[in-house]
Amino acid sequence: MKFGTIRSYIDGKYSDANASRQISIQYPATNEEIGRADVANEAELNAAVKIARKAQKQWASMLPAERSRILHKASVLIRERNDELATLEVWDTGKPIQEALSVDIVSGADAVEYFAHAAALLKGDYYPLGESHAYSIPEPLGVVGGIGAWNYPFQIACWKSAPALAGGNAMIYKPSELTMMTALKLAEIYKEAGLPDGLFQVLLGDAELGKAIVAHPDIHKISLTGEVGTGKKIMASAAATLKHVTLELGGKSPLIVFDDADIGNAVQAAMMANFYTQGEICSNGTRVFVHSSVKDGFLQELKRCTEKLIVGDPMDPATQVGALISRQHYEKVNGYLQLGKEQGATAFLGASEPELKPSSQLSVDELKKGNFVAPTVFTDCRDDMRIVCEEIFGPVMSVLTFETEVEAVQRANNTPFGLAAGLFTRDVNRAHRVSRQLQAGIIWVNNYNLTPIEIPFGGYKQSGMGRENSLEALKHYTQIKTVYVESGDVDSPYRV
Ligand code: NAD
Repeated sequence: MKFGTIRSYIDGKYSDANASRQISIQYPATNEEIGRADVANEAELNAAVKIARKAQKQWASMLPAERSRILHKASVLIRERNDELATLEVWDTGKPIQEALSVDIVSGADAVEYFAHAAALLKGDYYPLGESHAYSIPEPLGVVGGIGAWNYPFQIACWKSAPALAGGNAMIYKPSELTMMTALKLAEIYKEAGLPDGLFQVLLGDAELGKAIVAHPDIHKISLTGEVGTGKKIMASAAATLKHVTLELGGKSPLIVFDDADIGNAVQAAMMANFYTQGEICSNGTRVFVHSSVKDGFLQELKRCTEKLIVGDPMDPATQVGALISRQHYEKVNGYLQLGKEQGATAFLGASEPELKPSSQLSVDELKKGNFVAPTVFTDCRDDMRIVCEEIFGPVMSVLTFETEVEAVQRANNTPFGLAAGLFTRDVNRAHRVSRQLQAGIIWVNNYNLTPIEIPFGGYKQSGMGRENSLEALKHYTQIKTVYVESGDVDSPYRV
């Protein structure tokens, strides 16, 4: 086994506790076992929380600039280790190395760097009240829990831990049971950057451990990235201890291509919005509404470009579409391909065995054991088809047509989700008007799926609550204490 047995990272070192359960780590491109993980037990969780409570008090009392310096150093170390971390991320996720090298690790470093600066800028407000006054102090929540999904494991760990640490909290982080390796590396990097032990601890386990973290009375907030169903369960159980929750959940986002759009750009965006990370992106624009007058040109260009996509060995720098995370997920996505055909959609591209490109490391026969799905485009879709309504989380695009702006907006909004939306138009008035009407946490005009750290990211409706990135995220990791200071006498009706 390439990676042997990995263990939880507690109090600045790898745990040596005896595990009663292990999780197998498989490479999505071949489904071979590449390692095993010892699942953290209740005693380890309790120990981690105890250590975190102590470490957090010390951390919160440090000068913001000191916290800032440590986080900044961590961001530098992450960038220095970009290639090593990216390679590990590919072993875990099966995504193309060309993406991991240029996006996954970099976006994590961006978050740590951004919140390093934000840590030093954290400040309250002052309220003059006649002769008296009040002020507010943003204080940490204490020990917070982060629970991650498997599609961007390193980025998610950074997006959660950076604002948590910047706000003066300690974080107990549980990566997805399918992608555990890079969060451990992040813990090592934080330590090397000077982060005191116990402030970022990584516990390995599946939903059972997640539940225990959510139920823990000394953890004061949960930030989840995961499915809508998981978000609902977590919110319900967090209610027992009235924890704060940030939920970054799923979506079925619309991308509207108006008749005046730049079709070349719209096609590129639609492809990025459906095939990047083999479609395993929460904000993907999987319902592509194309104005009927430009549909033919759009589909022609989409076909020309999609047919050139290289599917194969994720470690090959030429590969553009990698393997889905697990056999189970592969079965689910293939089930939707079948369903799309059964419900009357036309398989315009894909929906069949992908053409796999062999590499110097993996032959076609070896790749066939992996979880590869061909980039797929369904046309002749109806809004009520399950492929159009449900999150597939694979490289599957549904193309729909529309006639009017009003119709496009109404149909785009006709979903319980509201994570993201996109529109392509050259009409600046329409761009703003439609952006205001779309019910989603982020709208991209003439582009798609860009999440620079400077701007807020999060969902409307059932796609979640709270925001990640930007200074908004910091608000979700702090609580405001207001101090009222009386300068005169107490104005009291009881004075005699
Ligand atoms: P998931 O909900 O199955 O699991 C997410 C995490 O929650 C895992 O770590 C899992 O172990 C844990 N978990 C599961 N049940 C739990 C419970 N009852 N209590 C506590 N923890 C529990 O999601 P996934 O399959 O890992 O990820 C894919 C989903 O994540 C998709 O729906 C996708 O849209 C969503 N996602 C959202 C965003 C976003 O920012 N909005 C980003 C990436 C992925």
